[in-house]
Amino acid sequence: MEIVAPSSAAVQLYDYQRTAVEDLRGAIRALRRESRDPRVLLVAPTGAGKGTIASWMIAAACAKGSRILFLVNRRTLVQDLSRRLYRLGVAHGVIMASNPSKPWLPVQVASIDTLQRRPHVPPADLIFVDEAHFSLSNIWLSVIAKYPGVPVIGMTATPCRADGRGLGDLFNEMVECPGTAELTERGHLAPARIFAPSQPDLSGVQVQAGEYNQKQLASAVDKGQLIGDIVEHWARLAKGRPSVVFAVNVEHSRHIVSQFEAVGISAQHVDANTPDADRDRLWADLETGRVQICSSVGVISYGWDVPCVSCGILARPTKSLALYLQQCGRVLRTHASKEFAIILDHAGSVLEHGFPDDERSWTLDGARKRKKPERDPALSVRMCLQCWCAFRSTQTQCPACGWQYISQKAEIKTAAGELQELTESPKPQPYRIKKLSDNPAFAYFQQQAEAREKSHRWAWMQYQLFTEGKIGAPDSIFAAWQQYERGRRGAA
Ligand SMILES: [Zn+2]
Repeated sequence: MEIVAPSSAAVQLYDYQRTAVEDLRGAIRALRRESRDPRVLLVAPTGAGKGTIASWMIAAACAKGSRILFLVNRRTLVQDLSRRLYRLGVAHGVIMASNPSKPWLPVQVASIDTLQRRPHVPPADLIFVDEAHFSLSNIWLSVIAKYPGVPVIGMTATPCRADGRGLGDLFNEMVECPGTAELTERGHLAPARIFAPSQPDLSGVQVQAGEYNQKQLASAVDKGQLIGDIVEHWARLAKGRPSVVFAVNVEHSRHIVSQFEAVGISAQHVDANTPDADRDRLWADLETGRVQICSSVGVISYGWDVPCVSCGILARPTKSLALYLQQCGRVLRTHASKEFAIILDHAGSVLEHGFPDDERSWTLDGARKRKKPERDPALSVRMCLQCWCAFRSTQTQCPACGWQYISQKAEIKTAAGELQELTESPKPQPYRIKKLSDNPAFAYFQQQAEAREKSHRWAWMQYQLFTEGKIGAPDSIFAAWQQYERGRRGAA
């Protein structure tokens, strides 16, 4: 016997989730009063419990006899969402090709592609749009247009699309949950420590429609040395932690697995074709420690909820802020065994996008805007040269190992495209460097960057790799740099 109407008592809301529900309802009422389409976007970071909020609202709406349509844009997400709703006690039908539907149930979950092709759409009094940042294609608009006047609630962690445009074409109002930093402070998310021990060279990888060309990306990162780096740093920084890897493609993921196995670490690969039962077993094995590394391609996304996982390895460089935040969010769930989570960034993501808990403010009608003036995220990140912890450039001491930033009062800023080091010292300094380009090694990498048409960031990263002994420079440059460093340190 099916449970037709789920019980809202099965879902408990935190206070901020309750506030979000009230705000959503208030926004829908206000839009109706103004005779505008009641389409509201809920913005909540990964881990804030969008699914919980939706389930609670679904349960409440069902109790009043309403019919609900839940739209998602990918088939794999239909299955994920369906499983999640069952866990929350929400019985539902699934509208998807080759799937026996249960059209009599008041809650229907539909893949947008399937629904668009069907001659009849199911009736609905309330529509949810999941991963709403994908929702501006004509298909979405044409389906939603079949429900005039019906409230639409979109949900997303990142209300901007790959091209940076807003979602104002579809949604008329926005409701925001507290951000990652606030949820961490309140104890709803675990704090993260980020290490960025290696940076892939992506100079040959093209960007198409706002994301890296996947084929070129795979050949740029699927290299023995880079993968060796992943294994080595995990062993040094995160050994013993249940860990997930985000890989570019299946081959890349399998290479990562085999390199972990080669040093006696139990690792397994998972992708969209892995049967549900195998996936469930893998999550359980992560929990018990039988498997330490789960290397994944595109599956650890919506609704994936294995809170014991406390290390995320970013091996898939992305231009998408949404994807980056989603990857980080996977390890930020709280768990008794987890004082803090570790993120090992081998994808250049923290330099590309900033910290996962950076304050980001969003608007419906444009690209994301930071509350503070737009600044290259790379410049807000400082890297510990001892342990590769990434920390905010407002700090001078590494939070992981205590290392002091080498020129403690200095900050690197770009002025008119020129990298320079500014000294801001309350006390007289024994030595001063007016320009970082006085540093012969850095100057060398800057010249290399210019010759290869690379960015300043590239030069800076090469320099950091050089200081760690990871990459070399011509003997004359190395000798000059040693002398330069001796001079600096000797004077100090
Ligand atoms: Zn450190």
